[in-house]
Amino acid sequence: MQYPRYISTRSSDRSFTLPEAIMHGLAPDGGLFVPSFIPEFDYMGLDANSYSETSASVLKPFFGGHFSDESLRSVCEDSCSFDVPLKRISGGAWNECYLLELFHGPTLSFKDFGARMLGRLLGIFGNSGSREAIAGISKSGKTVVLVATSGDTGSAVADGLSGIDGLELIILYPGGQVSDLQERQLIVKRDGVTACRVNGSFDDCQLLVKGAFSSPSLSSVRLTSANSINIGRLLPQMIYYVWAARQLPVPPVFCVPSGNLGNLTAGLIAWKAGMPAAGFVAANNANGFFADYLRGVQSSPRKSLRTISNAMDVGDPSNFERLSHLFPAEELRDNVFGCSVSDAETTSTIEAVYRETGYIADPHTAVALESARRYRVHSKFSGPIVVLSTAHPAKFPSAVKAIQIPARLDIVQTFATSVITLENRQEDLNSIILDRIQ
Ligand SMILES: *Cc1c(COP(=O)(O)O)cnc(C)c1O
Repeated sequence: MQYPRYISTRSSDRSFTLPEAIMHGLAPDGGLFVPSFIPEFDYMGLDANSYSETSASVLKPFFGGHFSDESLRSVCEDSCSFDVPLKRISGGAWNECYLLELFHGPTLSFKDFGARMLGRLLGIFGNSGSREAIAGISKSGKTVVLVATSGDTGSAVADGLSGIDGLELIILYPGGQVSDLQERQLIVKRDGVTACRVNGSFDDCQLLVKGAFSSPSLSSVRLTSANSINIGRLLPQMIYYVWAARQLPVPPVFCVPSGNLGNLTAGLIAWKAGMPAAGFVAANNANGFFADYLRGVQSSPRKSLRTISNAMDVGDPSNFERLSHLFPAEELRDNVFGCSVSDAETTSTIEAVYRETGYIADPHTAVALESARRYRVHSKFSGPIVVLSTAHPAKFPSAVKAIQIPARLDIVQTFATSVITLENRQEDLNSIILDRIQ
């Protein structure tokens, strides 16, 4: 079997192995890693009854050569030890609608899938045995992992990476722009984790992370990123699409709450790799750059706007570069329907869905449910629509008043916390990084 190498979106002169791509995070020329070609998995041959078996089969063509079947299966099993239910709802505008609940992991958002797998991969590839094999990152000492978060990424990555040998994680989040509960989850004191509250927006946080990679003062530090720009977080996100498709008799349309476009990119890669799908819907909140792009409206990346679905408050989605590298604009426009949903529409959708179907959706999922409704009207598609339910409603108590906080979140409120306030200045972040590898 021919396995892909990994190349930068900005030049294909040099190719990398999967461990190199994962340890680098961002390609040395500032681009994002993509597979040199998209390999196929055996869709019909998948074991539809086991999530970890499905995971190993889907990932093998991408991970091949670096894992035995046995160790790949064990990484998959360890990364996803929770349920991934597909629930059918019916009523009102939501007939033939399925919710793929991706929030049953430890931090109650779909980010647990990518983060937990990435933590394990960084641990495996970063240990001394395989270090020599990774060109350009044979620097000794700890690996510093940077992550910018608009809410859910940070706690998922912190949970997924904390306590793994040789890793120091630094989380940047925009002060005052995440919910109280999200912030408390972020700043829980964890082994090897530093949480930074930045005086700036999420886009500023992303720029600081990118800036660290090109800072000469950090050239001797082994740096990587756990944002969805890391291919090691992206690839595992293919699995749940395949898992859902396998349970349905006909190919569904997938409706994806979208911010940085990592989740959508993973779905499209899964489709290219052999999963049947009738189409995709990219559900944006008021940050509608990508929806505009799909409609062919003249648009460019912009400043992010704050909304109640704050994990999608991204004006300049980092995976756009990867998506446009892998898929020509024509192909995207033919297969992905874009929507932009306001806060008022999100709130009324939460209420309407609850009233008509009894389902309680969080604000991110509600953006997708409203997009699914519009898509149905627009396309007359009568088959199944799978809406990715990306966060537990209890994470957003002010938008979703009707429900109780589950025990796991309650506990967070009593843990010891630790946080550093950071100005939006590159030197300040860089000195924290240097301090952490002492
Ligand atoms: C991160 C996040 C999204 C957006 O996913 P992207 O991969 O950045 O497009 C949607 N919903 C929730 C709850 C999230 O945490």
